[in-house]
Amino acid sequence: MQIRDVRTLSQTYTAPVSSGGKRPQEAAEPQDSANLSTMGTWHRNKLETVKAEAEALRPSLGEFEPGEVIVKVRPGMGLDDFASDYGCSVEVKYDLPKSMFKDFDGEMMRLKLPSGMQTEEAIAMMRKDPRVAYAVPNNIYTLDPGQDEPAPQSAGLQQNTPNDLDPALWGLNNTGQNGGKAGADINAPEAWNISTGKRQSEGGPLIAVVDTGIDYNHPDLKNNIWTNPGEIPGDGIDNDGNGVIDDVHGYNAYADNGNPLDGHSHGTHCAGTIAAEGNNSQGVVGVNWQATLMPVKIFSDGGRTSADAIIRGITYATRMGARVTSNSWGGGAANDAIKDALRTSPALHIFAAGNDGKNNDSRPTYPANYDIPNIVAVAATDKNDQIASFSNYGRTTVDVAAPGVGIYSTVPNAGYGNKSGTSMATPHVAGMAGVIFAEHPDLTNDQVKQRLIGSSDRVSNLNNMSVSRGRVNLERSLETDSAAPAAPNDFRPIESTPGQVTLTWTATGDDGWCGQVSSYEVRYSDKPIVDANPGDEQVGFEDAILVATDAPQATGGIESTSIKLEPSPEARTIYAGLKLIDNVGNRSELRTVAIEVPAAPPPPPPPPPPEPPPENPPTPNP
Ligand code: CA
Ligand code: CA
Repeated sequence: MQIRDVRTLSQTYTAPVSSGGKRPQEAAEPQDSANLSTMGTWHRNKLETVKAEAEALRPSLGEFEPGEVIVKVRPGMGLDDFASDYGCSVEVKYDLPKSMFKDFDGEMMRLKLPSGMQTEEAIAMMRKDPRVAYAVPNNIYTLDPGQDEPAPQSAGLQQNTPNDLDPALWGLNNTGQNGGKAGADINAPEAWNISTGKRQSEGGPLIAVVDTGIDYNHPDLKNNIWTNPGEIPGDGIDNDGNGVIDDVHGYNAYADNGNPLDGHSHGTHCAGTIAAEGNNSQGVVGVNWQATLMPVKIFSDGGRTSADAIIRGITYATRMGARVTSNSWGGGAANDAIKDALRTSPALHIFAAGNDGKNNDSRPTYPANYDIPNIVAVAATDKNDQIASFSNYGRTTVDVAAPGVGIYSTVPNAGYGNKSGTSMATPHVAGMAGVIFAEHPDLTNDQVKQRLIGSSDRVSNLNNMSVSRGRVNLERSLETDSAAPAAPNDFRPIESTPGQVTLTWTATGDDGWCGQVSSYEVRYSDKPIVDANPGDEQVGFEDAILVATDAPQATGGIESTSIKLEPSPEARTIYAGLKLIDNVGNRSELRTVAIEVPAAPPPPPPPPPPEPPPENPPTPNP
């Protein structure tokens, strides 16, 4: 699904919230009784000074709930004092304890503004307040549900596979059926020889599906749905004290209640791709045969959500232990509060790159484009290993590409159906992360992300579509390999001019001088580069400047890359470093080199001033 930034403020106004983040779904008329008198004098005066700024701010804020602001205040500032200074009431204090959300330094809340204070005015004032880390609107997002398609004819089942590997599931196993390209799949049957996923009770990860909910009664999903061990169903009591009553199978963050049933179909479809139960003689199989899926419903059945609901969804999933979140949504306004909640959550967040057919490197789609390490952005491919016509892409901002056209999966009420979108590619990757964590539970987010990227099959059609330059491969991502690639001994400059240095080395391959590594990491600095513990006159490799490199060749290939420099009038020395990375994220030893860069030639003398025109132009002789 895609969330779009549609400007329909008057239609989407939602009544002020009564308590505890409960959000009535029916629209109501705004109250207009001016209540500026509740503001402190200082802020009433301040309001007058920010009118012009507020007006200028307005177009950048996207669509939002009027009369509400989400604010993060710095540690120890006192939320209630802060709110009363502005005449606001605190509607929600978000639950982001430092024990779970590391680096979340401060407190975040949703405020209701006094009548008569505009959202953009409040934001303009608060952004000047030294207590504020950020102040953002409660943005509204609506979803584009993507394309539904007629389900393909079932052509009978194959041998040596689970009994529910329907031939429609080309993304898992593509033998060329229906005109596709054999092998353009994630190598699921091969991977299932290693692992078919694990439920949480067997040491597997909890996977949150942050979407329109899940039909948790679906016969092909119900055995893979999370059950809250601390909640007694139907007693009207929040038994486990997590702030939600009777949240037996997850959370409805949109309506702030304990029932995340999917009345849409999008979330149920995504859930089936991650983990429709395998080998149960019905329907389909997911990337995981067994898993633990937590429904977190952030969208209404009509496809509407807000920054507030998204943040409460993320905080719930984190609090209840989600290791992976699957997020088939994006688009609309960037929002610092959503970004901060994602950044500080310990989970690995898989996000759709978006369905606009555009380059996310130049036109960002959020949250996929937030520059935070625990997001994996996913583009969509078709059964011929081509980028999907609708899929966003990005050589540096989209991490991987996965099957997302004509994907067959579960829909509510025991049904099955076909959908297309980066929404459908995302759960393939979330499902892979689930199997990787099931097989290798001690890996870090960075290591799993590196496995997803580095184990992709290179596909020339997909070379510039993502960091991976290919399509994901579950089998390769599960490899047990602790051998780092060998570092070459001939890393050296072959060209050095005032504006450019070119480096070369010989490809060494992975696991003992054979095959090829997954990627190179080349960095440079004006200080000597060391692997760790840099001294005052040194820089750590990770902190040096990254240089774009081409895809590695097979062992013995001659590699090169160039560093563009700003020419300097002085001769100088720069330093470059190289590491090789394999498909599971093992890194080689560091190789470094010092390069003498010549001075730029002095600039040419300025041209002489133009001759002034003669005062008395010559006149022709009569
Ligand atoms: Ca509860
Ligand atoms: Ca099944």
